[in-house]
Amino acid sequence: MEFIEYMQASGHEELAVWTDPANGVKAFIAIHDRTLGPALGGTRIWPHATDEDALMDVLRLSRAMTYKSAAAGLPLGGGKGLISADARTQKTEAMLRSYGRFVDSLGGRYVTTEDVGANAQDMEWIAKETAHVVGRSEEQGGSGNPAVMTGLGVFQAMRACAEAAWGSDSLAGKRVAMQGFGNAASSLAAHLVDAGAELIVADIHDDAAARAAQLPRATIVPPDAIYDAPCDVFAPCALGGTLNERTLPRLTCSVVCGAANNQLASPGDARRLRERGIVYAPDFIANAGGVINVYHELEPPYSREAARAKTAGIYDTMRRILDMADSEGVTTAEAANRLAEERVAAARAARG
Ligand code: NAD
Repeated sequence: MEFIEYMQASGHEELAVWTDPANGVKAFIAIHDRTLGPALGGTRIWPHATDEDALMDVLRLSRAMTYKSAAAGLPLGGGKGLISADARTQKTEAMLRSYGRFVDSLGGRYVTTEDVGANAQDMEWIAKETAHVVGRSEEQGGSGNPAVMTGLGVFQAMRACAEAAWGSDSLAGKRVAMQGFGNAASSLAAHLVDAGAELIVADIHDDAAARAAQLPRATIVPPDAIYDAPCDVFAPCALGGTLNERTLPRLTCSVVCGAANNQLASPGDARRLRERGIVYAPDFIANAGGVINVYHELEPPYSREAARAKTAGIYDTMRRILDMADSEGVTTAEAANRLAEERVAAARAARG
């Protein structure tokens, strides 16, 4: 089975499955590595075509969380949850509470938060069943929607990439093509608008595209046309794997930097980007603002200022990755992996 081979090859600790047909729940939680701390990662609510697709998605995403938290210097491991459902039509309190019991059954090895299809209200329903949830509403003393900080972090990474590409970290007048206009993209767009950038936006849902159309200097294009849109920066902010052998040759940008997890379909795509002279912000470096934010909720009282200051530091982390890639002659993706792997290995060695 492909997913068991993948788990073994990438060092996953655990994969848990939960079925509760009475409440419409089929869910998976993957725990990749807890060397640095409890496995923290969001819950995605998404109707994958097959269970195999869902399993591979949650396994890949949990691994990315290990790398993301390690590279961000957080004492957290990597995990991810996935509920196989359409968040727009099938989400109910009973579904989220059943899932909350699933999270609780793992005894704190996994801590959940928002991902695609989930929001702070969903975290409140989960919190009725388990203490192992963050990204709770501000009324409950939580940090609210993590996408606000995710957008800031992506913006910081984009500025660092702009400096590498054009010698200035200003994004004024730059054209940024945004694939997907959900929570994280909306937050990123606010920073880009303030910075004087132009936006080209595509989303598969008309209401999301219509929200983007309200912004100044924003043009809407059909979902598939986003790859060909003349732009300076391509910002993948939808689901993973959209950059691959077929789509990369269509890009016209000098920088790829966005919020989506697992943007590259295969490791070879990072090399393809480098060969074309495109500066690539590794996804788990750029989009760490959300996990940085919810991490601060684990250490009450939550301080937005502290979370914001650490998220702003993604600018420096991205510069460090660019320097490492330059001096070692590797891709930025390889440099980012190395930074994360070194931190996990050092913690493992110290623990004995
Ligand atoms: P979201 O559900 O709010 O938004 C995703 C948007 O992408 C939706 O509007 C959807 O219609 C659109 N979309 C899906 N497929 C598309 C396609 N092929 N073309 C165009 N649009 C498409 O989710 P989000 O929270 O904004 O997350 C977006 C990405 O960022 C995900 O990959 C997520 O894992 C990642 N991410 C999010 C956060 C966060 O704090 N929200 C943090 C880290 C990473």
